[in-house]
Amino acid sequence: MKRNDPIDSPVTIDRRRFLLGAAGLAVAAGLGGFARQAWGQAAPAAAPPTGPFALMKLPYADSALDPVISANTIGFHYGKHHKGYVDNLNKLVAGTELADQPLAKVVAATAGNAEKVAVFNNAAQVWNHDFYWASLKPGGGGEPPAALAKLMDAAFGSVGACKEELKKAALGQFGSGWAWLALDGGKLVVVKTGNADNPTTKGLKPLLTIDVWEHAYYLDYQNRRADYVQAVIDKLINWEFAAGNLA
Ligand code: MN
Repeated sequence: MKRNDPIDSPVTIDRRRFLLGAAGLAVAAGLGGFARQAWGQAAPAAAPPTGPFALMKLPYADSALDPVISANTIGFHYGKHHKGYVDNLNKLVAGTELADQPLAKVVAATAGNAEKVAVFNNAAQVWNHDFYWASLKPGGGGEPPAALAKLMDAAFGSVGACKEELKKAALGQFGSGWAWLALDGGKLVVVKTGNADNPTTKGLKPLLTIDVWEHAYYLDYQNRRADYVQAVIDKLINWEFAAGNLA
């Protein structure tokens, strides 16, 4: 795959196999400060699960997005929810033909398959969260790179109008889901998806995403999804990541 394909981007799941015991703990320790904080109390028996899929390393400290997204939210969102999807996925695919597939292939292979709903939900949620953390950065927001801004102008009339569409999608998603900036062929689109679904299953190429599940904002904003979305767009969104996914 091309380096800049989002499916093969640097945030793609690290497929190192965890080993039980000392080796597994050594890998966990290698995940850095957050992992130590999240799992610091873990006894040796609580080593990361075996299996082909691993929880990605956050590209910043767990407090780096504060105050827009607090370390407390990251602790639950990344340390519990995201990790839970990884753990569930590993259990669901253990011993099946999907266990050794790349994450994106598991998502593609199970999308729309009524017998594989649980695998799809967990695999897609791992993929979506990997993509979400990369879509944010400390000191983000501001103006997008020129190549991306040009596409925004072409599709929405202006950068500001594109941001408004993204916000509208994030607020308009009823219940749990995601707002996305994506490419449909060469044209920029804003779409929303429910639950675990993502635009790759519809032939679109995601550029960035905003998680609008309540677990993404409830500790910091309670029911005020609009405030969370506005702050993310203004202060955290990683336009460079999105521009990098254009290639
Ligand atoms: Mn989430």
